[in-house]
Amino acid sequence: MNGKTAIEKKRQARKARATNPPGDIPLIPCPTCSRKLRARIGLFSHLCTHRQTRSQTQGLDH
Ligand SMILES: [Zn+2]
Repeated sequence: MNGKTAIEKKRQARKARATNPPGDIPLIPCPTCSRKLRARIGLFSHLCTHRQTRSQTQGLDH
């Protein structure tokens, strides 16, 4: 029954991955507003919003 145990191990590994939240990913703080972002791409797009708000300092409610 070695094959079965191997499958069980794979299953457990999958479960561990599924149950573990993506909290292991280091959060990157925004240097402007110190908001924490999950990924570099998220930080990049977030910085773009800061640039937009800089050029338009007022008048954005949403
Ligand atoms: Zn920010």
